[in-house]
Amino acid sequence: MAEKIKKPRGKARLKPDTCIACGARCESACPVDAVKMNEDGSPTIIEDKCIGCDKCAKVCPAEALYMYMTDEQKAQLAEWEKQKAAGGTEEELSDEDKKLKEYLKQFRGVWVFIEQTEGVPANVSWELLGEGAKLAKKLDAELCAVVMGENVDHIARESFEYGAKKVYQIDNPVFKNYRTQAYHRAMCWLIEKYKPEIILMGATGMGRDLAGAVATEVATGLTADCTGLDIDDKRNLMQTRPAFGGNIMATIMCDKFRPQMATVRPKVMDMPEKQPGASGELIKENPAVKEEDILSKVLKIVSDKKAEDMDISAAEIIISGGRGMMNPTNFKILEELANELGGTVGASRSAVDAGWMAHSRQVGQTGKTVRPKIYIACGISGAIQHLVGMQDSEIVIAINKDKDAPIFEVATYGIVGDLFQIVPALTEEIRKRRNA
Ligand SMILES: Cc1cc2nc3c(=O)[nH]c(=O)nc-3n(C[C@H](O)[C@H](O)[C@H](O)COP(=O)(O)OP(=O)(O)OC[C@H]3O[C@@H](n4cnc5c(N)ncnc54)[C@H](O)[C@@H]3O)c2cc1C
Repeated sequence: MAEKIKKPRGKARLKPDTCIACGARCESACPVDAVKMNEDGSPTIIEDKCIGCDKCAKVCPAEALYMYMTDEQKAQLAEWEKQKAAGGTEEELSDEDKKLKEYLKQFRGVWVFIEQTEGVPANVSWELLGEGAKLAKKLDAELCAVVMGENVDHIARESFEYGAKKVYQIDNPVFKNYRTQAYHRAMCWLIEKYKPEIILMGATGMGRDLAGAVATEVATGLTADCTGLDIDDKRNLMQTRPAFGGNIMATIMCDKFRPQMATVRPKVMDMPEKQPGASGELIKENPAVKEEDILSKVLKIVSDKKAEDMDISAAEIIISGGRGMMNPTNFKILEELANELGGTVGASRSAVDAGWMAHSRQVGQTGKTVRPKIYIACGISGAIQHLVGMQDSEIVIAINKDKDAPIFEVATYGIVGDLFQIVPALTEEIRKRRNA
């Protein structure tokens, strides 16, 4: 019998002029510190350290990294592939690895928790079904929705229309309103019974609360506020999120525990197209969660939304102001422009911290993620923590007197100048054209 050969590994290399300086994903993906970022945001590979694991190339959104192999390694790879095709390269696993492989194999399926309040589903759940569908396809697994509540048949139906192939529905008065204890018990019961591989929840008040409680109970990992999700070649969920105050993007994996759990904020993922009338397999479950066992009771639901607390994440046009606005009174000029355009006013954290705007208006890492058709940034420098909350807007217009402000790097249109001249002039011009 031919000697079994090991799969050869190359060394990571950068294709010239292809790096888009996405924020050091490759550096954080490297397990051996072989990637160092240059001042221009591109990576240098330290060849002596590189182990050819391919992780940096996999996370690169621009496919700027590749694994370089010598001719000898290429020939060895061809031989290895031949042996693999003939079924002869099964790695020798330690007992521990074999156990892990068996354990991981029990978990299959991508689940999305469908959040609802008073029978109204949260849009983030549909966004997650859209993202979950991509993951399920890569894993060749089923996309499932978990719907809990009272009289929630309509949400189960809608889950199919947004892409779920299977819905686990728990319909019982105990689940009418969200309560951590009830939902947590039911979710853990479902996990124990069906063993999903991945669970996604919205990074909302409800999702954050439930995900944390469930992950603790089932003793698995949870990555909060992910901005990117993908699957590696070992079926692990690659969960990318800002780390260290937003200065780097870290890709986090939970390779030894299942299910893999992640939360994602509203508006981070695309809304999938609704397929009216689509259906799938409906599984109705009734875990033994009794009202008398739940310590909290919901007496009344009171909205805490004030007029200034409008949901900016749903707005199609946002005019945001930063420290460059100088004081709260000056936000009036942004409101006037917003009124002309039918938009709403947002703010950077500096403006919120200064007490000029309500926190509900803050855009960015510790505020809202927005994806409007038009985002106008006025007197905002473009710190990474602000950019992660608005960079997926369709059109970004930046007004800043500093031509080197980082906001211009993500702007579709940039206006270098004094916002106190430019904003009123824009409002005036729009008004004129509308009345013409
Ligand atoms: C953990 C963490 C989380 C954070 N989360 C967020 C977040 O969610 N959202 C967020 O926004 N920030 C966040 N930050 C803060 C962030 O790092 C920046 O400090 C903040 O975004 C800066 O706000 P700014 O752009 O309004 O102010 P500055 O950075 O001070 O920029 C003001 C800009 O206004 C311009 N300007 C001044 N006068 C005028 C004028 N007359 N006309 C035109 N331009 C003018 C200046 O050139 C300058 O570029 C976070 C920071 C940390 C560490």
